Amino acid sequence: MVSNVRRVMYALVYRPQDKRKSARKRGASPSRSPEFTGKMKTMQAPVFIGSRIYRGSSYGARHPLSIPRVPTAIDLSRALGWLPDGRYRTSPRARPRALQAFHSEAYIAALQKAEADQAVTEREQTEFGLGTLSNPVFGEMFRRPATAAGGSLLGASLLRDGGIVFNPGGGTHHGMAGRAAGFCYLNDPVLALLAFRAQGLSRMLYLDIDAHHCDGVEAAFDGARDIRMISVHETRRWPFTGAFGDRAAGAALNLPVGKGFNDSEFTHLRDRVILPAIERLDPQVIVLQCGADAVTEDPLARLCLSNNAHFDLMARLKTAAPRLLVLGGGGYNPWTVGRLWTGVWGVLSGQEMPDRLDGEAREVLQGLDWVRQRGPVASYLTQSLRDAPRDGPIRPEIDELADRAAEIVRDWTWSG
Ligand SMILES: [Zn+2]
Repeated sequence: MVSNVRRVMYALVYRPQDKRKSARKRGASPSRSPEFTGKMKTMQAPVFIGSRIYRGSSYGARHPLSIPRVPTAIDLSRALGWLPDGRYRTSPRARPRALQAFHSEAYIAALQKAEADQAVTEREQTEFGLGTLSNPVFGEMFRRPATAAGGSLLGASLLRDGGIVFNPGGGTHHGMAGRAAGFCYLNDPVLALLAFRAQGLSRMLYLDIDAHHCDGVEAAFDGARDIRMISVHETRRWPFTGAFGDRAAGAALNLPVGKGFNDSEFTHLRDRVILPAIERLDPQVIVLQCGADAVTEDPLARLCLSNNAHFDLMARLKTAAPRLLVLGGGGYNPWTVGRLWTGVWGVLSGQEMPDRLDGEAREVLQGLDWVRQRGPVASYLTQSLRDAPRDGPIRPEIDELADRAAEIVRDWTWSG
């Protein structure tokens, strides 16, 4: 009975992209889909969620998201032998009804219509933010974000009994309930958190280390009593929200940092604020938005992290809560984002990171090109996964930010 209910729920939430496969999944072997039967109680091995849709679609030749990101992480992980079949799951596409857990019906209808027509009216552009420079009309403008959202919803479902899931196509943290913004058409982190809430979880931590503030997620959970949000982002950068004093009625802790933010400063905030907050709040799930645009080479931000900052945090988050859902996010330099997300998967799935990349792995990175690249690509971007550390002085303003935030964390509770 339970199993039937779950199957019906699954059919409501997802549009199976391959009916034959889906029938097989629902039919013969419940042991292969324990998340839908409720029988599996032990923690599952980490799962990587991807889709072919990221390979064949682009926001347009001149858009920052014209570069391959998820495909690079998949190809590089495969080349390293880190992605055996059992660890990889194809992302289903979320159905419009599932998206309406957060998004308005009118907006979802407009988004689908824009994809079908490959055009928007002036009114649709103004009202829904569609057909703009940042959120252009393109061939898969509904199906691609709906697949990213379906991946995060699948992740929430797989994590019902605990574990680790990585959905690098997700992390679209600027999407609003009735409006596209900042390259995001939907908001998959919000949908995933709502799915965890529907599972009965009441202590959920959303952590965001993208260079941009997570305005869509914060707007969705302003004043929430079961969700706490921590965001580290560059100050005075779009969307210009997320000041330290902005607390979303006690639900958020914003850590805006200035340009040049380095690994030592990240470690300082991690150890003084982020890890103590996890200790204090004891979340049942951590959802991490792991944007790759806070690293030095990113063209859209001015922070100076190396990917070690992400890897070291990931190693600590692995055991910090019973459930960990890691999402992608920003990241607009094809080499840094591909290396960072591959390394994240390596840490999450317990791999030994090689000092140098050879053979097929190196070819994946050497095969990338980028319209903004002037001259030859720095050799470390094609020959290694791990950056050299980018340590530096901890500036007084970061130290002060850590002090003030640590004070909030000391008294942070689920009631306010
Ligand atoms: Zn970003």
